Amino acid sequence: MTMTDPGERGRFGEFGGTYVPETLVPACHELEKAFREAWADPEFRAELDRLLSDYAGRPSPVTECFNLSEELGVRVLLKREDLNHTGSHKINNVLGQALLAKRMGKTRLVAETGAGQHGVATATAAALFGMDCIVYMGEVDIKRQELNVFRMRLLGTEVRSAKSGSRTLKDAVNEAMRYWVSVVDDTHYCLGSAMGPHPYPWMVREFHRVIGDEAREQCRKLLDGGIPDVVTACVGGGSNAIGIFSGFADTDAELVGVEPAGGAAVTRAVPGIVHGSKSYLMQDEWGQVLEAESISAGLDYPGVGPEHSHLASIGRARYVPVTDDEVIEAFQLLSRTEGIIPALESAHALAWVSRDRLELAGRTVLINLSGRGDKDVNQMMEILK
Ligand SMILES: *Cc1c(COP(=O)(O)O)cnc(C)c1O
Repeated sequence: MTMTDPGERGRFGEFGGTYVPETLVPACHELEKAFREAWADPEFRAELDRLLSDYAGRPSPVTECFNLSEELGVRVLLKREDLNHTGSHKINNVLGQALLAKRMGKTRLVAETGAGQHGVATATAAALFGMDCIVYMGEVDIKRQELNVFRMRLLGTEVRSAKSGSRTLKDAVNEAMRYWVSVVDDTHYCLGSAMGPHPYPWMVREFHRVIGDEAREQCRKLLDGGIPDVVTACVGGGSNAIGIFSGFADTDAELVGVEPAGGAAVTRAVPGIVHGSKSYLMQDEWGQVLEAESISAGLDYPGVGPEHSHLASIGRARYVPVTDDEVIEAFQLLSRTEGIIPALESAHALAWVSRDRLELAGRTVLINLSGRGDKDVNQMMEILK
């Protein structure tokens, strides 16, 4: 069986685990226990469902792209996570973790952010729940993402500059974890993707499972046979992809994760340990973690969640890289044909479908449109002028 409970040790095959300093081991155990109980509690599930529908706007629709399908010769369906409150899938995970933190008696949240999307989502949940919130962000990213820094402050969150290493996302994760060790009694670490030490990869997948479950039901109504031939999503840390994959793991649908060519951790398939778990990650010949490089800040992560490494290693999912140029083209293609401006992250999945359209001809492809592109319009204006 794939995509089930990874057990107490948090293993997905040889990947996953809990590689943290000893001081954090009790916190990870406490979190696992609390999540296990909450997830089995109908009251917790009902409260989260209410938040997802009344606050975040779920269910998100599946849109059939008639114009684009004709142009590509591939039947394209989009799962519209771009229509959620705060503009991406990230709110699913954040509402789940904030509700869990409250149940655990925690009064504060700490989070990391790269482009600022997860930071904004966490700041949003903190405001809603009346919790204090601190977000670590690389010094370089703070300069690059002024607007999201301002949004977080507007929402009442303190943004702290991570000044170590390359001063980007991986350093923000390190500093957020280090800070968490010192305040673990009253603070929950709201990790932003399906990565990190157990129970995060499993817990974050379960909070995003709603994407796949809804899409499965929507496809049942929309398609003969009820199952698309291919389900695809972009992969940074891997949370939106694992969410939609989990709805189709037990079907014949082919699962395809799309990585930026400059951050293709799964495609390169070199295992290592970073940020608390064993997975594939970008590293040099001495095992030093490499910087990822992508046009989309949200995919600039050198690692990937452990379950993706497992799905790749057993052949249940495959992973393909796309280039920045292919992404730029796909961003414009969807805007022009369907009137939907995608996030640059989400445009990766579309870029693969567009590039490999001859191989996919006549098939039905469900793409997880993880977010909307408003945040990327300025950057694209610079690139295209
Ligand atoms: C953060 C983000 C991603 C990348 O994160 P995953 O954990 O890989 O899903 C993808 N798309 C959007 C719109 C994002 O904001």
